[in-house]
Amino acid sequence: MSRVLIVGAGLTGSVCAYLLRLEAARSLQLVVWDKAKGAGGRMATTRSPSNPSVTVDLGFQFITASPDYAVKHQRFYDELLKHHICLPLNALVEGMIVKEGNHSYVTPCGVSAVVKHYLKQSGAEIFYEHHVTEINLRDAKWEVCRKSGSSEWFDVVVLTMPTPQILELQGDIGKLIKKSQKQQLEAVTYSSRYALGLFYESGTQIDVSWAAKYIPNNSCICYISIDNKKRNIESSVVGPSIVVHTGVQFGTQYLESDKKEVQKMILHQLEMLLPNLPHPASIKCHKWRYSQVTQAVTDCPGQMTLHSKPLLVCGGDGFTHSGFDGCIDSAITIVKALDTDL
Ligand SMILES: Cc1cc2nc3c(=O)[nH]c(=O)nc-3n(C[C@H](O)[C@H](O)[C@H](O)COP(=O)(O)OP(=O)(O)OC[C@H]3O[C@@H](n4cnc5c(N)ncnc54)[C@H](O)[C@@H]3O)c2cc1C
Repeated sequence: MSRVLIVGAGLTGSVCAYLLRLEAARSLQLVVWDKAKGAGGRMATTRSPSNPSVTVDLGFQFITASPDYAVKHQRFYDELLKHHICLPLNALVEGMIVKEGNHSYVTPCGVSAVVKHYLKQSGAEIFYEHHVTEINLRDAKWEVCRKSGSSEWFDVVVLTMPTPQILELQGDIGKLIKKSQKQQLEAVTYSSRYALGLFYESGTQIDVSWAAKYIPNNSCICYISIDNKKRNIESSVVGPSIVVHTGVQFGTQYLESDKKEVQKMILHQLEMLLPNLPHPASIKCHKWRYSQVTQAVTDCPGQMTLHSKPLLVCGGDGFTHSGFDGCIDSAITIVKALDTDL
């Protein structure tokens, strides 16, 4: 039985695991490792440090399907709607640019529910706090080493993290990646931004007419969402939560700054924009060093095979484009690349 390791429990990794379980001709032992404490990656749902039932989506906000993707990925949309993981967006989002024929969806239980659904369906063994540091080729198998704990052997390895994190990996992988592939991976670029999560006691009133709002022409903040309102959850059931995204220019300018100082700057701007906002019970500041893809890998849409026999493949939104459909496209292409070998 082939032992397959998927590195990354984000959307690409989870859909890969799900499709492999559905489509692989033979039985596989599927293993997922992620360095984080939970599932989601950039689709993580973060809990309040003071009350775990209050959550906020610090990254991914809306699933938006174009008419073409609604048809191409219909089975994925239908499944998420059938399981009530997604609902059509009904709340008011000020300043949202809606292209004709596009449909947007929200995730009532938080966006990580999408990733958790695919992981559960895959039946994979999932290990968090497994930070891959090194990959070596030993006797036609991959020896995968992690930050703490012993290394393990796999027949196939799939990497789904942002491309700069693939290039950071040590060991034989550095020698196995062809010069031209390395150049392609190095050329992928991502925007950077900060996100702030504000968590409130249940019943706190946030007095704004919208559920989310895009803020044009602000040097710091580009988006604010009353996260529970956006997701159609009553704030009397669980406390309201707010997510604030900074613009990319701000994110880039303060990328290496002290996070506490950055948090202060964002809160100051927020107070100017919403002076009557109540005091939150707790706050979380997150830096998205790799937020959205601004330049994807050219000439190998979906995935890149770094080594065959044994297979080492990488994918993710850096090989297509950021968003739900970009990750699904990449996962489908990865599974096709693996199909011949499994
Ligand atoms: C602020 C923000 C807002 C966004 N808003 C939207 C939106 O509204 N709509 C939309 O369609 N898209 C949005 N996106 C983009 C979307 O979130 C991404 O395109 C998508 O989540 C990428 O998924 P992925 O699985 O390819 O990568 P990731 O989600 O980055 O998954 C990679 C995983 O690999 C893990 N990992 C990395 N290195 C290692 C290692 N060495 N060892 C083990 N594990 C490792 C990481 O912990 C992570 O879980 C947004 C992104 C951000 C950051």
